[in-house]
Amino acid sequence: MPVHRRKRSSVPFVVDEFDDSRNSFCLNAKKELADRVSPRLRLRVTAAAESILRSGHPWLFAESVREQNRDGQLGELAVIYDRRDHFLAIGLFDPLSPIRVRILHAGAATTIDSRWWTTRLDQALDRREGWFDEHTTGFRWINGESDGWPGLVLDRYADTLALKLYTAAWFPRLNEISGPITKRLAGRLLVLRLSRNIRSLARDPFHFQDGQMLHGSKITGPIVFQESGLRFEADVLRGQKTGFFLDQRENRRLVETLSKDRDVLNAFSFSGGFSLYAARGGARSVTDLDLSAHALEAARRNFKLNEDFPQVIHCRHELIQADAFAWLGKSLLRKFDLVILDPPSLAKRESERAGAIRAYRKLAQSAIEHLRSGGILVAASCSAHVSAEEFFGAVREAARKSGRQFAELQTTGHPLDHPATFPEAQYLKCVYLRF
Ligand code: SAH
Repeated sequence: MPVHRRKRSSVPFVVDEFDDSRNSFCLNAKKELADRVSPRLRLRVTAAAESILRSGHPWLFAESVREQNRDGQLGELAVIYDRRDHFLAIGLFDPLSPIRVRILHAGAATTIDSRWWTTRLDQALDRREGWFDEHTTGFRWINGESDGWPGLVLDRYADTLALKLYTAAWFPRLNEISGPITKRLAGRLLVLRLSRNIRSLARDPFHFQDGQMLHGSKITGPIVFQESGLRFEADVLRGQKTGFFLDQRENRRLVETLSKDRDVLNAFSFSGGFSLYAARGGARSVTDLDLSAHALEAARRNFKLNEDFPQVIHCRHELIQADAFAWLGKSLLRKFDLVILDPPSLAKRESERAGAIRAYRKLAQSAIEHLRSGGILVAASCSAHVSAEEFFGAVREAARKSGRQFAELQTTGHPLDHPATFPEAQYLKCVYLRF
């Protein structure tokens, strides 16, 4: 790798990574002092990457690195210069990922110290001020890059906080950031969750584990929290995401308003999130359809947790453990007045995009066949590789092909606490059609 020799000898800005006046940062400080023997990691990038970073995009890909003054270590701060040798951005270096640097800050030079982390945290918290009352104690405090914390998510479930990492670059910084988080949020418990791809890296040499406590006593079972006054369990230790699909809250609220006197099919139901809203909204019956027995058991428990709502008691609740694609294709005698389709991501990578669009169309076609006259289809997609227009296009095409008359009621995107500030972050979309 060619060595980048800086023309000017003075560093045009100061970047301090630690504040050794605080005990909690002592361990980090020692490490950082050792690191100071080596010069600050400096990168220069291609012209194209330069303008992408200037526009605010939070990722620098490995192939866009033109020069690097030395090998970088996992999680260290990398400073990116523009072609005139001016500060462009600073971020977390990740030698293991094609996303080589995840940008923390771009624009004017800044000092990254403990105060900087606290300010960054406060920005995310302040943004959500007043969005949730005491009836909604489960929501997202930090949504990764779009809140300025690349590859990091922080969810709240009542008194428990779940911190999920999607990049190993945070491992060396976990002690540094978990202190301010527990202090500011007065969370009694803070649990660490790791995306599958970084679990083995976490063990060695960092000694972190998926589900370990970063603060507070050990959690032994699911956490009960509230969403719009309904009670739900979240399996914060092992569940998908951080234990619940908090991102569908606004769609669930809409479904509640559409459910009165309807027979509802919740396909890919998980723990019955949509179903409880439908039940409280006055649905005659709700059928949960999921492949996972575990998810269906949680749905049953969630119905039990809400028996103080008369509508929930009066709603007939059925559980079907089956492959939803197969079940929808064959059980055509079963008719419903509202069908919800919320499958897992059908395109994990770009190469699966076209297949996913076909699968969405097929799924919508089958669902429409189960709808009575006046019935509503609620079709959602969480595939980031399929755009909103591609997805809506697939569902509308299925609707046209059915030969039935239909009206589009509305489309929705991300809820406020799951902001998406750059194209790759936009994954959630949902369309409502009445037949
Ligand atoms: N709508 C839910 C979230 C759905 S997550 C909510 O609001 O909470 C996707 C669900 O699809 C998971 O529960 C998973 O178990 C289920 N699933 C995955 N593949 C499936 C299949 N082929 N058939 C039925 N369910 C499936």
